Amino acid sequence: MDHKEIVQWLKCPPGPALDSLKARADKIRQENVGDAVHLRGLVELSNICNRNCLYCGIRRDNHSISRYRITTDEVLECAQKAADFGFGSLVLQGGEDPGLTKEFISELITRIKAKTHLAITLSLGEREVSEWVAWRNAGADRYLLRFETSNRALFDRIHPPINEHTACDRIAMLKTLQSIGYETGSGVMIGVPGQTYDDLARDIALFAELDLSMIGVGPYIPHPQTPLGAEQGGQPMADQVPNTLEMGLRVLALARIICPGANIPSTTALATLDRQAGREMGLCWGANVVMPNLTPLKYRQLYEIYPSKAASTETAEQSRDAAFRQIEHIGRSIGQGRGDSPHHLQQHISSNRKEG
Ligand code: SF4
Repeated sequence: MDHKEIVQWLKCPPGPALDSLKARADKIRQENVGDAVHLRGLVELSNICNRNCLYCGIRRDNHSISRYRITTDEVLECAQKAADFGFGSLVLQGGEDPGLTKEFISELITRIKAKTHLAITLSLGEREVSEWVAWRNAGADRYLLRFETSNRALFDRIHPPINEHTACDRIAMLKTLQSIGYETGSGVMIGVPGQTYDDLARDIALFAELDLSMIGVGPYIPHPQTPLGAEQGGQPMADQVPNTLEMGLRVLALARIICPGANIPSTTALATLDRQAGREMGLCWGANVVMPNLTPLKYRQLYEIYPSKAASTETAEQSRDAAFRQIEHIGRSIGQGRGDSPHHLQQHISSNRKEG
């Protein structure tokens, strides 16, 4: 698909043509990653963050929330639950919290690996290369770092650097993560103010250029206690992408068509925009992963990156049961094992061949 065709799909009116996009994505999903839906237990480690991203509810300057950092024992309990529930992997996610040190995360990984067979995905933001290497050596399997938008000016506007020396290049970071050996994932926000259809089409093409093994996309949901959320209400620019569930589903389908072997979650943002059917719709538009939230309930509502996040009051058991129900409701099966992306396994075989 070239740029022009991607833009056409993003702008195509609802109706038979758009239905055909959904059917094509679903067929490609079935042919490449099958009917199994893999479950990743999500643990939100900390809502402390050094950064001040303009859209994020846990940004440093939001003083209206209580801050927390989970304990090692609490994470180990979550990991045990994930294993007992039959999940194949655990996602450890957090803000850029200096208290989530190289040593703390390394110890967590080592201890989880010692007591379970879970694959471990880290989503801990922009970190030092030495930290990424240490965590990989400790046994971490995957790393998620969203580039959010390929429009550099827009990225810089919504991600102010900590100081003038720290302007970041997430595309280069993703390549570094791949070179360290992580199964690497990224993704974007859809409909963030200032994002045009051309921007979004370039984002989608970049998924393929980066050769990603995991892709996470979700509509931008404004948080009123953020600078970007507080700006809402003005006249949007002419070519502004809408931050709707429907646009989220189109992007998900295009991501599946462009990266057939990637693991693609039906994200919490989709479930937040439609509590009843958002997650199931994501699975029908190309997704093959869901991430039930296992974070201890006392922390759940404090990790409010956007408001009214789905599952923020559910226990781990309720999150698991809801996921099982939704998967069964659409006639799909529960994934067994770690659920490594076929794309990543293929990359691994190719690089071993080259080395051999
Ligand atoms: S988006 Fe991530 S890095 Fe930015 S403020 Fe939120 S948690 Fe921190």
